[in-house]
Amino acid sequence: MLRLPNFEVRTPERLDEAVALLAELGEGARVIAGGTDLVPNMKHELFTPRVLVSLARLPELRGIGDAGPGWLRIGAMTSLADVAADARVEQHAPALAQAAGLVAGPQLRTMGTLGGNVLLDTRCQWYNQTYFWREALGFCLKKDGTLCHVVEGGSKCVAAASNDTAPALMTVRAELVFAGPDGRRVTPIDDLWIADGIANKKCGRDEILVEVRLPHSGSGHRGAYGKLRDRGSIDFPLLGVAVKLELNTEDAVADADVVLTALQARPVRIKRASELLRGVRIGTEAFLAAARGVAEQAHKQAHPMPNIPGDADWRRAMVPVYVRRTLEAAATRAGPVHAV
Ligand SMILES: Cc1cc2nc3c(=O)[nH]c(=O)nc-3n(C[C@H](O)[C@H](O)[C@H](O)COP(=O)(O)OP(=O)(O)OC[C@H]3O[C@@H](n4cnc5c(N)ncnc54)[C@H](O)[C@@H]3O)c2cc1C
Ligand code: SF4
Repeated sequence: MLRLPNFEVRTPERLDEAVALLAELGEGARVIAGGTDLVPNMKHELFTPRVLVSLARLPELRGIGDAGPGWLRIGAMTSLADVAADARVEQHAPALAQAAGLVAGPQLRTMGTLGGNVLLDTRCQWYNQTYFWREALGFCLKKDGTLCHVVEGGSKCVAAASNDTAPALMTVRAELVFAGPDGRRVTPIDDLWIADGIANKKCGRDEILVEVRLPHSGSGHRGAYGKLRDRGSIDFPLLGVAVKLELNTEDAVADADVVLTALQARPVRIKRASELLRGVRIGTEAFLAAARGVAEQAHKQAHPMPNIPGDADWRRAMVPVYVRRTLEAAATRAGPVHAV
């Protein structure tokens, strides 16, 4: 049985109190939302905080509503189950609703939050293990050690961004609102990432993610999420594909975006997706040909490594398959794409 180390839980009732507490406690404190990733990681002794600052009693971090004209807000403590089931999220960001609905299984989506998913730690099959297991291998760069088991001789951690909602949020150009000791800041989610598996986000330990903002979409918006995983439930992505299409009044593509996850430390945007699809009407042979072109481009760009489970060559072979299927599913509103 894996035991949790000793720790204390603090439950502030105001956001400014929570921010002040984090600043006061410093490195020894960590935020806990649903705890579905943090608690297993504490059992594995990947994190050993003295104090957990719970966000459970902060009402302004909950719920889905308006964030001024043309914007939808989703409080960071909103459960993934609620994000997946919300009609406004489905309307303005169908890829996000689908991605949230494919995280883990029903229990974890009920406990797990959108904020916790955005700020999920990177994953690696040599890292997400017990202390005993990691010690037997001499640990690794990300925690307690000096070498990498994925890239021989490597000096940089390449643990994979594995949060399903991140690529979907990137396709709709979401913004994140953080509260910290210097007040609030708003950042486009694209600017959150760093290509470093040890800490892949520009976010201070003393900052709290308050909400995620999504721009309203028009009637031509289409989105879908595709997820490759071993089983039809529970598993983290072996590959995640988020797609956005913006159609004009003739049902031709005016803009497109494709972002992949579970490859490297940050989600990967596929180059030329919009250029290859622009002007092509959905439901035509030309659309299928353009989707194949984007799939080929994704295959060129994606180089899965043995950082997460699943044979890396097989995962690479699945990239064009999932990109093409997810583009077609977005066009026909048939998402999500996943094995059952
Ligand atoms: C068996 C299993 C399967 C899983 N499968 C998947 C999967 O398929 N896809 C997937 O994406 N995830 C998966 N997860 C991981 C996890 O359940 C989800 O990512 C979930 O959304 C995490 O949210 P949480 O609220 O539980 O976060 P927590 O575990 O509470 O926190 C995660 C991290 O974010 C920080 N944090 C959380 N909220 C905030 C905030 N508002 N401000 C600042 N910091 C914050 C915490 O300090 C911590 O570092 C799985 C987990 C398990 C145990
Ligand atoms: S990629 Fe994996 S093995 Fe290499 S340093 Fe990162 S966590 Fe450790």
